[in-house]
Amino acid sequence: MRFAITTKGDSKSNTLMHKMRTYLQDFDLIYDEDKPDIVISIGGDGTLLYAFHRYSSRLDKTAFVGVHTGHLGFYADWVPEEIEKLVIAIAKTPFQVIEYPLLEVIIRYQNGGRETRYLALNESTVKSVEGTLVMDVEIRGQHFERFRGDGLCVSTPSGSTAYNKALGGAIIHPSLPSIQLAEMASINNRVFRTVGSPLILPDHHTCMLKPVNRLDFQVTIDHLTLLHKDVKSIQFRVADEKIRFARFRPFPFWKRVHDSFISDSD
Ligand code: NAP
Repeated sequence: MRFAITTKGDSKSNTLMHKMRTYLQDFDLIYDEDKPDIVISIGGDGTLLYAFHRYSSRLDKTAFVGVHTGHLGFYADWVPEEIEKLVIAIAKTPFQVIEYPLLEVIIRYQNGGRETRYLALNESTVKSVEGTLVMDVEIRGQHFERFRGDGLCVSTPSGSTAYNKALGGAIIHPSLPSIQLAEMASINNRVFRTVGSPLILPDHHTCMLKPVNRLDFQVTIDHLTLLHKDVKSIQFRVADEKIRFARFRPFPFWKRVHDSFISDSD
């Protein structure tokens, strides 16, 4: 089996990386940064986001596992004290894989048929470069509302505990193939109306944003921020691709939610 390790870059994570690399090579696993079967991310959830984007072209062939060197993460749930156990599990066991849904974002432009496509593990946000964001929101090809406010956030189920949660969105179990649209400070008064609640769409529904006045937008895809000019539409749906996590022990999602947000002492 071929493996790669990505780290946050701090000395604790780097020391662990060297240890794990040596241990795994002692078990005759091959270090291969280009075509790994398994990617071990050492750091936090942010580190796993980087690893995901680095290997997003081979999601069907690569599984991910996360070790956290800070606080418990949603994608990074192994602790440094467990790495010997994790190494043995990776080396000896045919591991179980669990799949989580991803978000597909397609941006189309005013001139010509050019489009760009992205996959997000957590979410994509859309904000205006200047002034209030004004966007027509379509769901399944039907006009839903004209949004005015700071921005819109479309998240995956596993990203629902990140930015989406700070916006008052619901936490969605990653076994539900869905996306969630959450508002950022919408303008609501006698003239302007938005639904005001986060919306959860199933995998056969598409959400499309269409500019009303300005055409330039700041779009984030997880940790990446990109400026898009002359935008015609931004389309969101559940991607056909999924991220695969190597699972060596049960760690139920609701326990992770409890331990992350309520208390980690049982
Ligand atoms: P960052 O600003 O350095 O860190 C954002 C925080 O979000 C970190 O504590 C990170 O955990 C945590 N996080 C990432 N994915 C998560 C998930 N699925 N569930 C719960 N927490 C999660 O940025 P970054 O490390 O490059 O991560 C980019 C992410 O930041 C974006 O995808 C977005 O979700 C999040 N963000 C949140 C807000 C907000 O809550 N107001 C605003 C902007 C962006 P670790 O410490 O374990 O890495």
